[in-house]
Amino acid sequence: MNEVKTPKKTPLYYYGIVVLCLMLFNSLVMPWFARRQIKLVDYGTFMTMTENKEIGLVEVQENQILFTDKEQTAVYKTGVMNDPSLVERLKNSGAQFSQQIVEQMSPLASFVIYWILPLVIFFGLGQLMNRKLMNKAGGNSMMFGLGKSSAKVYVKSSEGIHFNDVAGEDEAKDNLKEIVDYLHNPAKYKEIGASMPKGVLLVGPPGTGKTMLAKAVAGEADVPFFSMSGSEFVEMFVGMGASKVRDLFRQAKEKAPCIVFIDEIDAIGKKRDGQIGGNDEREQTLNQLLTEMDGFEGNSGVIILAATNRPESLDPALTRPGRFDRRVPVELPDLQGREEILKVHAKKIKVDSDVDFHQIARMASGASGAELANIVNEAALRAVRDNRSSASQSDLEESIEIVIAGYQKKNAILSDQEKKTVAYHEIGHALVAAKQTQSAPVQKITIIPRTSGALGYTMQVEEGNKYLMTKEEIENKIATFTGGRAAEEVVFGTISTGASNDIEQATKLARAMITRYGMSKDFDMVAMETVSNQYLGGDTSLACSMETQTEIDRQVVALVKQQHAKAVEILKANREKLDELACYLYEKETITGEEFMEILNR
Ligand code: ADP
Ligand code: ZN
Repeated sequence: MNEVKTPKKTPLYYYGIVVLCLMLFNSLVMPWFARRQIKLVDYGTFMTMTENKEIGLVEVQENQILFTDKEQTAVYKTGVMNDPSLVERLKNSGAQFSQQIVEQMSPLASFVIYWILPLVIFFGLGQLMNRKLMNKAGGNSMMFGLGKSSAKVYVKSSEGIHFNDVAGEDEAKDNLKEIVDYLHNPAKYKEIGASMPKGVLLVGPPGTGKTMLAKAVAGEADVPFFSMSGSEFVEMFVGMGASKVRDLFRQAKEKAPCIVFIDEIDAIGKKRDGQIGGNDEREQTLNQLLTEMDGFEGNSGVIILAATNRPESLDPALTRPGRFDRRVPVELPDLQGREEILKVHAKKIKVDSDVDFHQIARMASGASGAELANIVNEAALRAVRDNRSSASQSDLEESIEIVIAGYQKKNAILSDQEKKTVAYHEIGHALVAAKQTQSAPVQKITIIPRTSGALGYTMQVEEGNKYLMTKEEIENKIATFTGGRAAEEVVFGTISTGASNDIEQATKLARAMITRYGMSKDFDMVAMETVSNQYLGGDTSLACSMETQTEIDRQVVALVKQQHAKAVEILKANREKLDELACYLYEKETITGEEFMEILNR
């Protein structure tokens, strides 16, 4: 789609520039203009005119004589001759002696030429420009555009985004297809008396294609698409946000049927919590949005789509029926979704014919659509860097690591001891995992430092679409997290800082078991914590008494300790394999899941 930005507001400095131009015009162009007006005549004509008493004003200068006719409509110029009686004759002819004849020539005429004419010219130019911009923008250009919405308008065009461009996300697409159908054929819905939801809320983690889906709806329905980010509404001046909302809806109603897309709606739609000194501007903006949404009829053809990754923070007034009453989850893609997204983006670059997208999708577990797009692009960049004409499987594989863990740090030299520690640490995780499940736990482990700061990188095996986890599985997971540190203890008898992330993860899981999954005997099925931030890291907030908190902490520690001990046991029992695998990794710096299992089962 062609994105046409509405014109920039006309700022005050525009007027400054006009005045400056005016002055320049007067000091440079006008004198030249005036000079051009002076007619050069020969001395004879001057003498004849004097004799015929046709001279009005006259100015004798050092090397020229300027004069006008009686009516002072034109200025003439002639040279100076040795003519002693000239002054006498001029006087007799009734001519008036004058100075600065050009400037004086006619006060009214010069005023018009010097001040009115340029003003008219500039005004005309300004009008012309304004009109041009207005045509482009659909008529919302105004001088002093403060409080005007700066919504981007996507004009309908053939190369717009369509549902085909959005891979995976089938449920979301199904949900939105109804809206497309409505925009195509509103009569069908009116007939039966059904009204479309006014607002649809797209919720999901960042980079899962919410913006794309909104654009695709507009593209499929072939209607204009207004897009604005929630944060753009909230300006420095109080009241501006509200007037922007008003302006946006005015435009939308003019262009109906159309789609209005508000990205990051949580920026304005946060709960109004009644705090003293709260954000007045935001609340005003939100109130205006609510008013506008109530103000138009359900079937007016304006559909509002909004995206957010923190739906729980939205004001309930915004999500009640009649406003954003439909919620479409846009989740992270599953294995099949990832494969499709990779394929969609791979169409834009040249890839070898033997690339196995299924394998890449398996390796990129947990990646969002935006990350997958990035992976494909990184692969293309790698191919260019190596002077190849298309991207290969290994380009894509390396790109996953680049996107998820950062570039390889070529010059970060680990000391020998450090490298050994990292190798044992990573193998520790993998070995504990493998011994518990009797299957390959990893795709690949590398111990090449990354720019993200990771000293090693472990690519987990795709777990498939798993929706439930048993208590034992979670416990095993915790044991696996402690496996890295356990290996350091078993082998070196000392511990390093390399396990901080493991500790965090293990704690999180253990806590969730006790506070949210009801997997502790003492608390039975009582929720001690609620998740407040599902899509952005899953922050939780405690909801229990101080005594219970103390007890929770005690149990979390006990649980992790128990699993840690189990990991140490497993590693001690498999000490030979641990050494063998760690040695292999230390030397090769990379080990695949197959090699790992092969050595383990030898
Ligand atoms: P969001 O609005 O959810 O943060 P976007 O819609 O802006 O995410 O997506 C960012 C980019 O990621 C898109 O431009 C696209 O290249 C890619 N992308 C994300 N999800 C998908 C998908 N399902 N199919 C294809 N590309 C996707
Ligand atoms: Zn670790």
